Amino acid sequence: MNDKPWQINEAHRRQLGQVDMPPRLLLGPGPSNAHPRVLQALSMRQVGHLDPAFVQLMNEVQELLRYAWQTDNSLTIPVSGTGSAAMEATLANLVEPGDTVLVGVNGYFGLRLVDMAERYGAMVVAMERPWGEVFTLDEIRVGLETHRPAVLALVHAETSTGACQPLDGVAALCQEFDCLLLVDTVTSLGGLPLFIDDWGIDAAYSGSQKCLSCPPGISPLTFGPRALDKLQRRRTKVANWYLDMSLVSKYWGNERTYHHTAPINMNYGLREALRLVAEEGLEARWARHRANAQLLWDGLAELDLTCHVPEAYRLPSLTTVRVPDGIDAKVVTGRLLQEYNIEIANGLGQLAGKVWRIGLMGYNSRPENVLLLLAALAKLI
Ligand code: PLP
Repeated sequence: MNDKPWQINEAHRRQLGQVDMPPRLLLGPGPSNAHPRVLQALSMRQVGHLDPAFVQLMNEVQELLRYAWQTDNSLTIPVSGTGSAAMEATLANLVEPGDTVLVGVNGYFGLRLVDMAERYGAMVVAMERPWGEVFTLDEIRVGLETHRPAVLALVHAETSTGACQPLDGVAALCQEFDCLLLVDTVTSLGGLPLFIDDWGIDAAYSGSQKCLSCPPGISPLTFGPRALDKLQRRRTKVANWYLDMSLVSKYWGNERTYHHTAPINMNYGLREALRLVAEEGLEARWARHRANAQLLWDGLAELDLTCHVPEAYRLPSLTTVRVPDGIDAKVVTGRLLQEYNIEIANGLGQLAGKVWRIGLMGYNSRPENVLLLLAALAKLI
């Protein structure tokens, strides 16, 4: 007889083995494999999120992020969450209901920006281009002239297509039309040239799991003076409490006021990832990504495989490869994973079934990885 006032349901009480994952080489659109030093840093003992030692680490993370992004912006912080959280933070803070937001849609993440901006009450105008192409300055000027947006949002490195949006001259146009320039740098930060201040980018966000080689879960964000000014002059409250930068910045700034508990160990990991960037130096890092991408592109050509994006604006961090006629894209990705422990990805949206996506990001951008993938692909196609 049960004399307790409860009865435990044991149905879900599974006795499981310790977590154990296969040794995958992650050459898809992200996550990429974290650098071993980052994994080590993640397991460092914890301190409290207001401990002086952690406060110092927060300052270091901000400084190293400023280096990686080439900015002096004071509000340069990691958002707790994945890249989409930082993406949402830029829109939640910089869009007021009724604002017109012009979004460059030439891939999947442009569509996500549209969806998010709409949720914050923006009148969204999508400026479209086929997936794999980029916008010219003239097209951007026409978009700004016609729609007079409060914010222009562009994806610098479209992970769904492999195209790199040139940003030269865009900020000058935005300033001419009194509009903020918001840029998605998730697949470019730490992998290819990116100059927040020199290029006049007002707000940008990124992710940790791409060219920074840290696991997903913490995501850089930076706001320049024009973005901060808009935030300070808002007529309405930021409609997302968790991502309200006027609150979060009090924790990352001088006040150190509790907002939410920072993901302590993810910050350790990000610090190590950024320390690796500073150790290598941006120029060397960009050159490494470029050289290994070239090795991949040359090897793909030898296999008679064609890249989807013209070389002039092809990303070094993410290559889309056209699937040859008669080949089932998913069979190849499935066999690469099962037989060779290599992950690459299939196409998304308009490019589903038409391309494979190969990422050479951060720690994974190494010649031995390129040669291994090419050898495996040669066996499968
Ligand atoms: N933007 C781009 C260009 C991306 O590639 C990604 C992720 O792949 C995101 C935004 C969203 O980041 P997350 O998946 O980390 O939320």
